Amino acid sequence: MASPPAYLKGQIWDLYDLGASHHIMPIREDFIEFQSTTPKTLTTANQQEFHSGGIGNILISIPNGCTTTTICLTSVLYTLSIGITLILVRCIDDTRYMCLFGNGCCEICRSDGELVGIIPKRQALYWVVRDINKPSAHAVKPTKLMVMDLHCCMGHITPHATYELVTKGLVTGLKIIPSKEPEKCEACIKAKLTCQDIPKVHQGKRATRFGEEVWSDLWRPLKVATLGGQKYFVSFTNNHSQWTTIYLLQMKDILEAYKTFEAWVKKHLNIGIACLHSNHGGEYMSTELIAYLDSKGTVRKLTVHNCKGAC
Ligand SMILES: [Zn+2]
Repeated sequence: MASPPAYLKGQIWDLYDLGASHHIMPIREDFIEFQSTTPKTLTTANQQEFHSGGIGNILISIPNGCTTTTICLTSVLYTLSIGITLILVRCIDDTRYMCLFGNGCCEICRSDGELVGIIPKRQALYWVVRDINKPSAHAVKPTKLMVMDLHCCMGHITPHATYELVTKGLVTGLKIIPSKEPEKCEACIKAKLTCQDIPKVHQGKRATRFGEEVWSDLWRPLKVATLGGQKYFVSFTNNHSQWTTIYLLQMKDILEAYKTFEAWVKKHLNIGIACLHSNHGGEYMSTELIAYLDSKGTVRKLTVHNCKGAC
């Protein structure tokens, strides 16, 4: 397959070819009649393989002096793999047209001898630029991709960012195929770029007594504050019985809430808290809380960083 001259890259050009086996067109919108077909593999003269996905008829304009002549080509294969319109001269010759080569051009005439058009020979090829006023982007039909396919093409950025790139028009020429399937990428999982799913059922040993291990989490600002101005709440869940106590907070400072909970446990159950389990939130990493836990002999346990089910 010949390549277009460098200065024509991005433009649509019609190549009149002697050796091709089919008319070929890469622009679906330019078919006046079209029928989808099962993918068919074709091989070009340079052994390049491509697939056609349909067949139909197109109109082409052949330059004829100061004007153009429009003729209809039938049985044209549709493929996105080739960036040009390939016009098989032999097929034109088989219809009611004649092709005469000589003097650096290809003359196409009707059977009665009337001249239809002249294709100049340039760089050993017979070609013309198709409708040069059309924007070059028209040559590319938007490619449809699953969001995870594009995720892989874009270097494994987050699926959400991938989706936004296309929907906000930052990446053009693509369309995302909606999918209800969960978005998973084996490569990302193996590279530990994604969070592990949190099991629905508790795994591992449970605490054998109240206070042996307490899970805590801070719930981020509520959209509507309480009458007392509290927008957060912190939870303390005992790993033995799943008993959960929550405290409303105005600020993200959980130390006082923890002291209150600890005092309640001590007063009513006469035990201390052996272990506090939390995520890496800043409120749990404060030096005040760490110093207080150390002073009480309470061990800290932290979940995996950025774990979405951390609590
Ligand atoms: Zn990935």
